[in-house]
Formats: sequence, structure tokens, C-alpha cells
Amino acid sequence: MKEITSMTLTELSEALRRGEVTSREATEAYLDRVERVEPKVGAYLTVCREEALRQADEADALRRSGQKVHPLCGVPVAVKDNICTRGIRTTCASKMLEDFVPPYDACAWEKLRSAGCVLLGKTNLDEFAMGSTTENSAFHVTHNPWGLDRVPGGSSGGSAACVAAREAPFSLGSDTGGSIRQPAAFCGVVGMKPTYGMVSRYGLVAFASSLDQIGPMTHTVEDNALALDVICGYDRRDTTSVKRGYTPMNRQLKDGVKGLKIGLPREMFAEGLSAEVREAVTGAAKALEKQGAIIREVSIPSLEYALPAYYVLSSAEASSNLARFDGVRYGHRAAEYADLEELYVKSRSEGFGAEVKRRILLGTYTLSAGYFDAYYKKALQVRTLVIRDFERVLHDCDCLLGPVAPTTAYKLGEKTMSPLEMYLGDIHTVPVNIAGIPALSMPCGLDRAGLPVGLQLMGATFSEPLLYRVGYALEKALGEVVKEVSL
Ligand code: GLN
Repeated sequence: MKEITSMTLTELSEALRRGEVTSREATEAYLDRVERVEPKVGAYLTVCREEALRQADEADALRRSGQKVHPLCGVPVAVKDNICTRGIRTTCASKMLEDFVPPYDACAWEKLRSAGCVLLGKTNLDEFAMGSTTENSAFHVTHNPWGLDRVPGGSSGGSAACVAAREAPFSLGSDTGGSIRQPAAFCGVVGMKPTYGMVSRYGLVAFASSLDQIGPMTHTVEDNALALDVICGYDRRDTTSVKRGYTPMNRQLKDGVKGLKIGLPREMFAEGLSAEVREAVTGAAKALEKQGAIIREVSIPSLEYALPAYYVLSSAEASSNLARFDGVRYGHRAAEYADLEELYVKSRSEGFGAEVKRRILLGTYTLSAGYFDAYYKKALQVRTLVIRDFERVLHDCDCLLGPVAPTTAYKLGEKTMSPLEMYLGDIHTVPVNIAGIPALSMPCGLDRAGLPVGLQLMGATFSEPLLYRVGYALEKALGEVVKEVSL
């Protein structure tokens, strides 16, 4: 039998079902691995050893009882630390919430818990999910398992790194402008940003509510479909949750790509894309063509404006969402203050880091009376254009294929001094959030430094089963592009 930490989620679920592995053994194997590699990787903010072992024993007892259990019963999971877990610290990697212990579970984690999943711990992120490298965490940096001097991407850098480093068989991340897909690409794992409204945002600490979405990060496409099946579905506690029947995500998995029309948006292959990324992504398109897909170039002119629109909209929403951290109800409160005004100012100045403050300032500015029309309203109009453009091209194509990030993982510290340069790295991921459509990020090669290259498959709303189908075919066509990392 394979070593437990080398198994895919699907393999582990099978091994548990056949009784070859117990949840206790699996959980202990992962906790041992965490203990061994965390000093190098730093993917976790909290590890829940005792609690995890208790949950594992419960899962084992349930399986022994002969009751019908969920396929993921007893499987360990890591959850991004902006997703609320009852009784377990949820910090958003911010001093503001350093000691915050939520009194309730986020819907996505509640669903995994009900399925019998075991919480290994909470993963590192950029403070309040604002960033692209996890360097904005108030606590520590996370290292890319493929090159410890490299960023793991962000903001779900901990969730990506822990899967790549085999410190969890799968994890949950959140994606507002690329935070699942970009770290997945940098760390060589598979990440899905689902259709807006498919996974409940209840209990996800809000960054930009009209863009935020939770999704799974896994080793394989099949694993990802399995995980999304559990966390998706209507939830009345999230007013933007979509009520509809969700078919099993793996329904079309093995149908192949013969006859499918796949568009390559010209704007995503323009100047600024590294030659090695371009090569790997176009290579993947060729591999799909060999399998019978019809590849054609398409144009999405409004993509050019998506990035500025994203930074206006997301910051505006963030400035409003983060107003709740006032030092009164919860979160950090300054030790000394003369009056209410000073309590607000001191608590927020001490509690928030530089990037979060930058977004609040940007958002407050673009929403202020004299500038609202010029910035916020304009950005909303761009949003409509982007939605329409995607609708148009996805009318003619089954899905789209493009790069996730302009480059592979860069060095820690390389971009921290230049926020604008950092923002530019989000150019290919933010359009998907603006349009509310799903996108699957998966590895498609390695660059000359041996770092993973990612691509994304984008489709119409609720086309996740199709994206998994194309992703699965591609995975088979490319073979094992990323091997197990050695740490
Ligand atoms: N990197 C983007 C930002 O900083 C996306 C973040 C996210 O998706 N949470 O806003």
C-alpha cells in the first residue's frame, strides 16, 4: 500500500472504505508530517492535534458501527483561516482577530464536518485575504514547497502549500480575485473557484462580498470534484446562495474532450506573459487538440479594464466590510483611549496591517461623494461589459483556456515594496470573479527552475462538471506533470 500522505483524496477515501486505513492512522500520519515539515513550510497558523484525533476516533467509530457513511468520513482537511470554525481560533492572519474564537461554523466547514471530515488545522493567508503571496500575514510567511525561497502565492498560500507539501490531502481556500487559483498554480496543485453563489459564504469573513467564493484545493481534478460536491449547495443564511439542483461534479468526468470547442482569449497571451508560461499553456492546448478538442483563438476586449475595475470594486467593498472592526464588538481593542473616537482610531491603527489599510483608504476614497461616479460607478459599468463579453465568447465555445499568472512563483520579498506590481500579477484571474463564472486552475508543466506552471479553464456559470471533464482529460494527456515534492 502507498504511504498515506502520498495518497490522493480519492485513494484515501477508498482505503478508508475498504478498512485498510483508519481515520486515526490517516490523521496521525498527517499530524506527524506537519510536525516534520512545518518548520520549513509554515503553512499553518493553528494545528488542532487533540481535536483532530478526537474527530478521527469518532469517524472510525461511525464506520465500525456499520452505518452508511459519507465517502469522505474520516478524511483530514485543512481550512483557510478566514473560514469560521466553532471553538477554534479564526484569525484572518490579522492582529485584529488574533484571539477571535468563532461561536459558529462556516457553512462550507459545517458540511465537511457533517460528512465526517477531520480538521487538521487552519492555514495561513494574506491578512483578510488581501494579497498574492501570503507575505501580508501578520504572523509569519509561508514558503513554497517547490522552492523554499519562493512565495507560495496568495492569498490562500497556506492552503496551497499544505497540500503540495503533503501536510493535508485537501484544503479549503477562498477566491476574491484569484486567491485559490494563483497559489494552486504556484504550488502545483488543483484549485477551483466555483460559480458565484454555488458555495455558501456564510461564515467566510467578508473581503469583497460580491466576489468572494470558497473552493477546494487538491492533488487531482477528480479529488477536486469530490470535494466540491460536499461543500456546494443552497444555504438560506447567504442571500446570494443559488437555489438549484446540483448534479454530481464528476458526472461527465471521463467523457473526454472530442468535439469540444475551447477558446484561447488572445488578451491573456499578450505581452507580459513569461515565455515559459506561454509555452506550457499552449502546449496543454495542443495536447487537448490531439484528444479531439477544437482549439480556436477568441477575443475578450474588456479584459483590459478588468484589473482596475477589480481593485476599485474589491477595495470599495472591503472598506465597507471592514468597518465592523471598531474595537467595540469584537477583535482587537486598544489598551488606552480618551474617548470613542480615539478607541476607533487606535484599535484600527494597531489591528490592521499596511495592505489592509491601503485597501480601506482606496475604497473609502472611491466611494466618497465627489469620486463615486468617476470610479465606483465606472467600475460597475466595466463589470457589466466583462460579464457580457464572457457570455458572448462562451456562447461560441464550451470553455476557455488561459494562464493563471504571468509568471511562476517568484522570490519571497521580490514584490513587497511595489503594491502596483503585485496587483498586476492578478491580471488573468480577476476577470473570472468579476463575471461570477467558475475557473479551474491546474498544473500543466514545470519551468526551467523546476517550478510548477498553472493554467485555468473557464466556463459559463455552473459549468463546473464540464471544467472537471476537460481538466481530467488534460491531466491524463499530460501525465504526471508535478511529482511529489521532496522536503
Ligand atoms: N490578489 C488579489 C488581491 O489582493 C486577490 C485576493 C483574493 O482573491 N482574496 O486582491
